[in-house]
Amino acid sequence: MSLIVQKYGGTSVGSVERIKEVAKKVIDFRNQGHDVVVVVSAMSGETNRLIDLAKQLNDRPRGRELDVLLSTGEQVTIALLSMTLQQMGMAATSYTGSQVRILTDNAHNKARIVEIDDKNIRADLKQGKVVVVAGFQGCDDNGNITTLGRGGSDTTAVALAAALNADECQIYTDVDGVYTTDPRVVPEARRLDHITFEEMLEMASLGAKVLQIRSVEFASKYNVPLRVLSSFTEGGGTLIAAEDPLMEQALISGIAFNRDEAKLTILGVPDHPGVASQILGPIAAENIEVDMIIQNTGHDATTDFTFTVHRNDYQSALTILQQTADKLGAREVNGDEHIAKISVVGVGMRSHAGIANSMFTALADENINISMISTSEIKISVVVDEKYLELGVRALHKAFNLEQA
Ligand code: ADP
Ligand code: ASP
Ligand code: MG
Repeated sequence: MSLIVQKYGGTSVGSVERIKEVAKKVIDFRNQGHDVVVVVSAMSGETNRLIDLAKQLNDRPRGRELDVLLSTGEQVTIALLSMTLQQMGMAATSYTGSQVRILTDNAHNKARIVEIDDKNIRADLKQGKVVVVAGFQGCDDNGNITTLGRGGSDTTAVALAAALNADECQIYTDVDGVYTTDPRVVPEARRLDHITFEEMLEMASLGAKVLQIRSVEFASKYNVPLRVLSSFTEGGGTLIAAEDPLMEQALISGIAFNRDEAKLTILGVPDHPGVASQILGPIAAENIEVDMIIQNTGHDATTDFTFTVHRNDYQSALTILQQTADKLGAREVNGDEHIAKISVVGVGMRSHAGIANSMFTALADENINISMISTSEIKISVVVDEKYLELGVRALHKAFNLEQA
C-alpha cells in the first residue's frame, strides 16, 4: 500500500461531469488499497473570472483582498468533489489551505509555503478517508488567506507530498505528460517518458507552464517523484526525477518559450564604473525583476544597455528608465513590448559544443533576427520579435530532430 498525492487541474474539474470522472478515478485508486490525498484547482476559467471581477471594481486591488477572493475558486471545487465522493459511497473530507494549516509567508498573491501541519490529514487517512485539499492557498501567521501565484496548485500538491512523505505526486492535467515543447504550438512535439528535475526546472522557468516552477523546486529539494499525466486518457505520463548517471541523456530535451517579456534600452549612457547599478538599482527598488541583460562595448565614452522585464512591468520600468536617462544624461530610451524568448534546454548540452551554432543557423535559415542571447550550462535563450515565435519554435524543434526519440 502506498500514499499518493494527486492533483487535478482546472480543466480536469471544469464541469459537474468532469468532477464525477475525477471522483471515480480517486475511488479506483482507493479501492486498489492506496491512501489518496487529492489537491484540486478552481474550475477552469474561474480564477480568471474572479480577477476580472476585481479589476472591474478596483484597478489595483490590495493583495490581501484579492487573495480572499481568489481562494474561493478552489474552495468551491473541494466541496463539490468531496460531496461527489460521499454520494458515491466514499468517505471524504475537504480542507481549505488554512484548515489544513498550510502556513505561508505574507507575500500576498505569490506567497511561499513555510510549513504544513499534517496532523488532520494523517488522522483522516488512518480512518480510510480520502482527503481533498484546496490547491493554490494557505494562510500567514496572522490567519490572513494567501495564494501561491498562478499555477500554484501544483506547488500545494508537491509540498503536501513532501510533508506526508508520499510515494509519488501525480499531476493530472489536459495533456498526457511533458512534451519536447508545447504540443499546442508544435503538433509534432513528442511526449517524454522522463525528464530530470534540473531540466524541468529550466523548462518551467523559461515558460513551459505545464508545472509551476516552485513545484519543481520543491520536488527536487525533497526528492519527491513527480509524474505528469492526463486526466482523460490512460498512460504512464512523464516522470520527473533526479538525474540517473547511468542513463544516457538526450542532447536537447525540449524547447520552452515565453511571450511575457518586454525589452528596454537606454542609449548613449556615460560609460563609467557603477553605470549598471545606477540603471538597474531604481528598477529593483520598485520590485521589478530583470531577466536578460546586455551591455554593449563602450565607444566615444558612452555605451548602450538593454534588459528585459515581465510585460506587466513594462510601463513602470519605462517611466523609471526615462528618469534615470535624464539623471545620467543619456541620449535616448526605447522599448519593445512585442518580443518573445525561445530557449533550448538539455543536460546533454553540457558535454557538447556547437548547439548554440545549430540554434542560430536554424533561426537564420528562417530569416529570424536574434536581438538578445543568454546561455547557461544547460540552456540557450534568444529574444526574437514576437511574430516569429511560433515559426522559430517549429524550426528549432525540427532542426534538433525532437519529433524523433
Ligand atoms: P492545469 O489547469 O491542469 O494546471 P495548465 O494549463 O496549467 O493545466 O498546464 C497544461 C498545459 O501546459 C497544456 O495544455 C499545454 O498547452 C501547456 N504546455 C506548455 N509547455 C508544455 C510542455 N512542454 N509539455 C506539455 N504541456 C505544455
Ligand atoms: N486556480 C489557480 C490558477 O488558475 C491555481 C492553479 O490552477 O494551479 O492559477
Ligand atoms: Mg497549471
